[in-house]
Amino acid sequence: MILHTILIKPASGLCNMRCSYCFYCDEMDKREEGVRGMMSMDTVKNLIKKAMRQAGDEICFAFQGGEPTLRGLDFFREVIRLEERFNRRGIRVINTLQTNGFAIDGEWCRFFKEHDFLIGVSVDGTEELHDRYRHDAAGGPTYARVRKAVDLLDRYGVAYNILTVVTRQAAEHAEEIYREYKKNGWHYQQYIVCLDPAGEEPGNREYSLTPEAYGTFLTELFRLWEKDWRRGKAPYIRQFENYIGILAGIPPESCEQRGTCSVQCVAEADGRAYPCDFYAMDEYCLGNYNSSRIGDFFENETAKHFIGESLKHEEECRECRWFRLCRNGCHRHRIRNEKTGLYKNYFCDGYRMFFEKCAPRIKEIADYLRK
Ligand code: SF4
Ligand code: SF4
Ligand code: SF4
Repeated sequence: MILHTILIKPASGLCNMRCSYCFYCDEMDKREEGVRGMMSMDTVKNLIKKAMRQAGDEICFAFQGGEPTLRGLDFFREVIRLEERFNRRGIRVINTLQTNGFAIDGEWCRFFKEHDFLIGVSVDGTEELHDRYRHDAAGGPTYARVRKAVDLLDRYGVAYNILTVVTRQAAEHAEEIYREYKKNGWHYQQYIVCLDPAGEEPGNREYSLTPEAYGTFLTELFRLWEKDWRRGKAPYIRQFENYIGILAGIPPESCEQRGTCSVQCVAEADGRAYPCDFYAMDEYCLGNYNSSRIGDFFENETAKHFIGESLKHEEECRECRWFRLCRNGCHRHRIRNEKTGLYKNYFCDGYRMFFEKCAPRIKEIADYLRK
């Protein structure tokens, strides 16, 4: 099995912020040993050495958390040295880092620029929306500080994209968010659904995104995006690019749109491996990078079960006219039917609304691009 990406948590789920909806805090609460501390130099060395052996022509080291910058810049300097040391076949190495932006300063920016890191910064739309749920450790607002961090990335010429969590409130403000990002010149955008805590009936939190709100959000966002696309000025919005790609005959790069989970090779700070960031819980542990071969993670029974469950689509999905585009969405958003053991996406009604209104235009764009 060729390894393409490894998701590394250098500071486990530790964070300098306290967002109300943090899904990783929820996962850590559900594990026997929640926080795994800071990643040791031995562990990161094992990770990189084994990852390079398992890679094809290219490998992506994707750092995330918690907040990965808490591990400190010296750790990342050593990462670069190790990548060079163990890259004996001239593999193309890509480094990405997902951050809340809270601690990003000029020194971090210089490092990112020098080593060509692609940065993802979490921003939830406008100042008001962002500060509603994205708090610092004392419960205070964080937008102003994060905004400064993004300006710094711009000043240093660091490549970045904006990752936005779609809460119930954010979903009501698609136009405001779209216009704000346009004004800021944020051309690379990714929107992810706000997760309710694992195992909890969805929809009961203040921030919970409902299927209807999600459908309205996607429809409105697409309307704005399409208008700009026709003028040749549209930003990159990952989900839309994937839908267009599917209809143009290009396989989606996002597992959420492939209809099946795959082993994403998450590495916790103590070296334990999990198949996906949304399933970094004890029952999904695949082994440990310090003691196992990476190839074993793909083949063990836990991984097989994880993937197998994601293939169990409800009859309604398999017969759905939108299945080719929707593929039942991300497995983490699906609800299991206890009688059949099959799954259907909680956001189904939202997806239907979106596809009914926008799929013909998505197809038109795909046909145009194919030509
Ligand atoms: S910044 Fe990310 S890891 Fe930190 S509390 Fe917020 S959602 Fe969780
Ligand atoms: S749970 Fe979602 S994000 Fe994780 S592997 Fe499955 S489809 Fe991908
Ligand atoms: S729209 Fe609903 S029924 Fe159709 S594939 Fe998606 S989740 Fe399944």
